[in-house]
Amino acid sequence: SKTYTQGPQPVEVLRNIDLDIKRGETVAIVGASGSGKSTLLHVMSGLDAPTSGSAEVSGKNLLSLNEAEKGALRNLALGFVYQFHHLLPEFTALENVAMPLIIRREPRRVALEAALKALASVGLEARAEHTPGELSGGERQRAAIARALVTRPQCVLADEPTGNLDRDTARNVFEVMMALQKSAGTSFVVVTHDRELAMRMERVYEIKGGRLSAA
Ligand code: ADP
Ligand code: MG
Repeated sequence: SKTYTQGPQPVEVLRNIDLDIKRGETVAIVGASGSGKSTLLHVMSGLDAPTSGSAEVSGKNLLSLNEAEKGALRNLALGFVYQFHHLLPEFTALENVAMPLIIRREPRRVALEAALKALASVGLEARAEHTPGELSGGERQRAAIARALVTRPQCVLADEPTGNLDRDTARNVFEVMMALQKSAGTSFVVVTHDRELAMRMERVYEIKGGRLSAA
């Protein structure tokens, strides 16, 4: 459960949610704007603490870890894709994708090699040396997916990754995610407004009134 207590009255955003994501599963979460989708992803990944209850990643209770341990577990086990790509504008696509490995203190050459492979897996090998400003919206989102996958995480959490794209580009980005899920066995939890895309995931849940139900 998660209740925000800032502001004039408490907002109960998540009520007794019980959700398990298994290895290799694809799960979509849909819901109206403000229904708590982002909050759920934040609680699942330890970016935000639940008000009651617990969240576990790879069998570790996030509440029992300090910030450094949580950061390390997130870097090791999870990948993130956001609605707005959050690529760093002054770096090339290759450097952006290599960033999570450089943060992990992998040697630069190893990081760049892995980044080039990840870019190739989303069809962007030829764009490696371009900066985000030189890429289309769909290409930026594919680069952001490559960055989420470069560490070979067990699970990718994506918060409206296609929300900012036109329909055909959104479909294409979604195809790329699903192909990677099949080839690498990565779990995907995707928050989306797009029911058509959501229905292509193995499980679809809707958040409404703080509760999660099968949709
Ligand atoms: P969604 O991602 O589904 O659009 P959010 O999880 O961002 O929804 O937000 C759910 C509800 O919680 C909203 O009513 C929002 O205003 C509120 N909320 C989100 N973050 C905070 C916060 N830090 N403090 C207070 N209220 C918040
Ligand atoms: Mg949101």
